[in-house]
Amino acid sequence: MGRYTKEDIIRRVNEEDVEFIRLQFTDIFGQLKNIAVTRSQIDKVVNNQCMIDGSSIEGFTRIHESDQYLRPDLDSFAILPWLPATRKTARLICNVYNPDGTPFVGDPRYILRRTLEKAAKMGYAFNVGPEMEFFLFETDERGLPTTRTADAASYFDMAPIDRGGDVRREICLMLEEMGFEIEASHHECAEGQHEIDFKYADALTAADNISTFRMAVKTVAQMRRLHATFMPKPIFGVAGNGMHVNMSLTKDGKNIFHDPSDSRGLSREAYSFIAGILAHVRGFAAITNPLVNSYKRLVPGYEAPCYLAWSASNRSALIRIPAARGESTRVELRCPDPACNPYLAIAVCLAAGLDGIEKGLVPPAEITENIYAMSEQERRAQGIDSLPGNLLEAVELLEGDELITRTLGEHVFQSYTTGKRAEWEEYRTRVTDWERQRYMIVY
Ligand code: GLU
Ligand code: MG
Repeated sequence: MGRYTKEDIIRRVNEEDVEFIRLQFTDIFGQLKNIAVTRSQIDKVVNNQCMIDGSSIEGFTRIHESDQYLRPDLDSFAILPWLPATRKTARLICNVYNPDGTPFVGDPRYILRRTLEKAAKMGYAFNVGPEMEFFLFETDERGLPTTRTADAASYFDMAPIDRGGDVRREICLMLEEMGFEIEASHHECAEGQHEIDFKYADALTAADNISTFRMAVKTVAQMRRLHATFMPKPIFGVAGNGMHVNMSLTKDGKNIFHDPSDSRGLSREAYSFIAGILAHVRGFAAITNPLVNSYKRLVPGYEAPCYLAWSASNRSALIRIPAARGESTRVELRCPDPACNPYLAIAVCLAAGLDGIEKGLVPPAEITENIYAMSEQERRAQGIDSLPGNLLEAVELLEGDELITRTLGEHVFQSYTTGKRAEWEEYRTRVTDWERQRYMIVY
């Protein structure tokens, strides 16, 4: 049972002077889409009668089967605080259904819901807390993004060196109005780079929150003539944007990753979950790190992972176990980036972790040294594998991972890999500035 009933939504729409309702859903590459309806349609909205034509949406359906119904998740009702305060605009996040009443298999939110059901059958609920990083850049006279920033600040710096503090403040306030609990916000390592952390939630809400967060950050930045980007590596030679994902499983409301009798305070399930992630991360990287550009972030030297190892402390490892124990015991996966489709990314992480638990997998030994400083031979001697080096390799590994392809389902798997192979092909054949600089004079 959700928090809100249909009647609650209708009452809020009337009492709070809501005139527009945006019905939101996500395409398979994680782009938030919406149709807006007016208050006059509210009965249709809450009774799941609003329709869309899915034929032009990335990864949705073919022309001859394009009618789809939006079933709003009533608990996602929120007023968009940056829009006018009279005749307000609210949003509802929707599940996508076929005309025959079955869930649409190309709806990423459904893929996550289905994976969460699997966890529920094993008695588990899944909590997720993301750490979102982004850059703020100046725009040009036409409002288009540049890579300029007047901000010369670094990690945890403050104003006046940090020129983004006011925008961060405004983003936090807007998000709080939408019901987020903001835990921390700060300047990140690179000039113009920021991070805002919000409280963990059940996995479905967390994925919704990631989507909402990206929309809010981009909108508030635009209102200040800035451009916010979650592109994983906008600038060569400085830190990229990560979306570290903190994960924990609960059973009967209790965190099952904690075991006080273990030397590290971790349970058998926690170790197996880690092992499951390590077993499948190469297979699911194409989902958590979806762009050609994602793999330019996963290089040594910028606190982004490249190698498959876990550690209770070491930030060069792919998986870190933050110090908190008890109900806060969690596994932090550091490879995902904020350009991913959050529904699919969270679904594949969960599926991998559950696979580890089901099979009773045991992770390799913890790596406490700085892995970036090891030679290839040293890594090989310790059995430390690498993340895929580019999008093509990631897609090929995805195609070879049976668990991950099954988790995505045939429809999403086909559309996703077809799209990503086309993206790679487009990139592969482009002639870049780097090539001209490197080759034109010499050859
Ligand atoms: N920006 C780094 C990354 O790409 C992470 C920095 C941090 O540890 O917060 O993942
Ligand atoms: Mg960070």
